[in-house]
Amino acid sequence: MDILVVTEHMKGEFADVTYELLGKGRELAEKTGGTLTAVVLGSGMAEASESLGAADKVLYADHALLADFNPETHVQVLDNLISNRGPCLALIANTSMGMDLAAALSARRDLPLVAYAVDVAIEGTEVIATSQLYGGKIYAESVISGGAGIVSVLAGSFPVDTGRVDGSSSAVERVDVPAGIEDVQIRFAGLIEPEGGDVDITQYDVLIGVGRGIQSDENLAQVEGLAAALGGAVCASRPIVDNKWLPKTRQVGKSGLKVKPKVYIALGISGAPEHMEGMKDAELIIAVNTDETAPIFEHAHYGSTEDLFDVVPALAQKLQ
Ligand code: FAD
Repeated sequence: MDILVVTEHMKGEFADVTYELLGKGRELAEKTGGTLTAVVLGSGMAEASESLGAADKVLYADHALLADFNPETHVQVLDNLISNRGPCLALIANTSMGMDLAAALSARRDLPLVAYAVDVAIEGTEVIATSQLYGGKIYAESVISGGAGIVSVLAGSFPVDTGRVDGSSSAVERVDVPAGIEDVQIRFAGLIEPEGGDVDITQYDVLIGVGRGIQSDENLAQVEGLAAALGGAVCASRPIVDNKWLPKTRQVGKSGLKVKPKVYIALGISGAPEHMEGMKDAELIIAVNTDETAPIFEHAHYGSTEDLFDVVPALAQKLQ
């Protein structure tokens, strides 16, 4: 079966999830005797495209309007490309960009879409995609008969390394952008980057992540104390940042930062896929959550169902 991976990049670098999809796509293409094609939409990305060695071929559309993500232009190009190339299985990252693209393409091309996938397999002519639903509480298997369709995959579902094929270069074919691409209503205005001045949580070996279980910003001080004793920093799930208890620079997850510390201690964090996406590659995950069914325990190496307000002072005392 022919597999098409829609790549994602920012500031000239491909996202880790692109390599995850290329690794999986390679495996599926080889198993079924098909080809793996990567699609790059951008500007000035020709050289970077050659580095996607896991793909048999890279289709590259170069245009100033594709330099930054714009759902309108990107969908137009992908729509045109898929209709010209014939049936295939398209793998797209289930990121904020990919969710836009996958849904729009599905509607425009009348192709089935399975979203929030954490696994994809092919048996005969059937694509079987496993999706993670309701914050990881339910896994659903969906079948795309005949193979032509779209699967959007959650970041962190597959290893990055298998798709990062060093030292080999892919055949890059330039593809035309459809006429009328300039006639769009959405324009990219600018990239708003997080404010500086705060600690860089991506640089710490030890991180303590706090979630809604912390209850109030007044309770953060004791966690800050514990983090200092461990030589680490405090980071958080999204609700903590939404409540303005910690700055956006501390948010871990899909719409925050991706961290890979040696130790990640999750205090009162349920383990929603959007949070896990940012920290599941930590070498050691220790979760403290009073709900023994919390999804975080599926990923944690060690866990405690004690109250975090008992665990934190006990641990701080032990460290002293
Ligand atoms: P909850 O899910 O409410 O979990 C709190 C946990 O604390 C519970 O499991 C509870 O059992 C436990 N608890 C309560 N009291 C105690 C106690 N005393 N001791 C121990 N445990 C206790 N989320 C992110 O984190 N990062 C993101 O980047 C992100 N991006 C998102 C992007 C999109 C598009 C969407 C739709 C959502 C995103 N989210 C993100 C939100 C995500 O879906 C979850 O809602 C969020 O991660 C939940 O945060 P939480 O675990 O702190 O809260």
